[in-house]
Amino acid sequence: MKEISRLVRPSVRELKAYHVSEPDVAVKLHANESPFNLSEKLRELVAREIETLDFNRYPDPSCAKLRDAFALRLGVRPAQVLLGNGSDELIQMIIMAFGGQGGQVLIPLPTFSMYRNIALSLGENVTSVPLDSSFDLDLPAMLKEKGARRSITFLSYPNNPTGNCFSEAAISEILEKSQGIVVVDEAYFDYSKKSFISRLKDYPNLIILRTLSKVGLASLRLGALIASEKITDIVNRVRLPYNIGSMQQAVALAALESGSDIEKGVGLIIKERARMCELLSDIEGIEIFRSDSNFILFRALDADLTFNALVKRGVLIRNLNSDGALKNCLRVTIGSAEENDSFINALRN
Ligand code: PMP
Repeated sequence: MKEISRLVRPSVRELKAYHVSEPDVAVKLHANESPFNLSEKLRELVAREIETLDFNRYPDPSCAKLRDAFALRLGVRPAQVLLGNGSDELIQMIIMAFGGQGGQVLIPLPTFSMYRNIALSLGENVTSVPLDSSFDLDLPAMLKEKGARRSITFLSYPNNPTGNCFSEAAISEILEKSQGIVVVDEAYFDYSKKSFISRLKDYPNLIILRTLSKVGLASLRLGALIASEKITDIVNRVRLPYNIGSMQQAVALAALESGSDIEKGVGLIIKERARMCELLSDIEGIEIFRSDSNFILFRALDADLTFNALVKRGVLIRNLNSDGALKNCLRVTIGSAEENDSFINALRN
C-alpha cells in the first residue's frame, strides 16, 4: 500500500488539522478563556463528587441531572437540552443531522472558523457572506443566499472574532425567511446578556448554542444545544453514546449548582472590558471595535509587528491579520486586571 492519501474521503483531502500555536509566555490572552480558576470551595465540592464516582461504569448516557440543571438555569424543558463535548461537537451533530442532499451551510465572514471547517469535513457546500463595514449582517445578501435550497445558517451572537452582536432585527428576519435551520451560537452570552432563547417558541427552525468554555470551565469541554423537542430528538440520533464522561457531568453539575463562582468572574471581566476599551482607545495608532464579548478586536498600524513584539514581551494574543475586513486586526481576550495591565504596558512599549 503506497498511497494512503488516495483513500482519504474527498472532503477531508484539503483540510488542515486545527492548530493553535502556543508559545511559552506568561500572559495568555489568545483563546477567549476566563482568567479565573475554580474557587477553593468549588474545588472541594468537585473533589467530593469525584470521590464517590463509579469509575468502572459508563456515564449516565442521557446526562439527566446535568440537563435538568441547564434547563432550570435557562428556563426551558430538559427535553429541549442536548449536551456536547464542547459546542464544537454540537455544531458537528447539527450538520450531520440536517446537512447533505445538496444543501448549504451559510455563514457570515469573518466568523468562528469551526462552522466552515466542520461543514467541509462533512462534505457540505459552504457559502460565506461578508459582513458589512460595521461588522453587522449584510441582510439582503444573506437572504439572497439562503435561496430555496436547504440551508443551515450559523450566526455567532456575539460574533467571534469581531466581538459585536449582530442586529436583532436582521437575525429575526433571517429566522423568519430561512428555509432551513438557523443556529444562534451564544457562546459569549454571559458577556452580552442578549439571547434568542425566548424566541424558541416563535421559530421552529431555531437552535441556540451555549458553552461553559468562556466562563471558567474551558477544560471541561461542555456545550449545550437548546431547541424545540422535535429538533433535539433529531440531533440526538447522531449523538455518540456516552459523549459526556462522568467526571465532566459531575464537575459541570457542581459548578452550575453553585453558580456564584461563574457570575462573579463574569462580572469582573465585564468591568475589565470597559477599562481595557478606555486604555486601548488612548493608544495612538490603535482602532478598537465594539465588544459584547470577553475579547476585543482592534486594528494596529502593523498587526504582525505588534503581535511579535507582544510575544517577545511575554504576552500572547491572536493575530487575525489577513487581506480583507481583518487587515491588521488582532484579538485580545480580557484577562485578570494584572494580565490586562501587562498587555497594555507591552503594547504601549
Ligand atoms: N462558538 C464560538 C462562537 C466560539 O468562539 C467557540 C470557541 N472559540 C465555540 C463555539 C466553541 O466552544 P467550545 O469550547 O464549547 O467547543
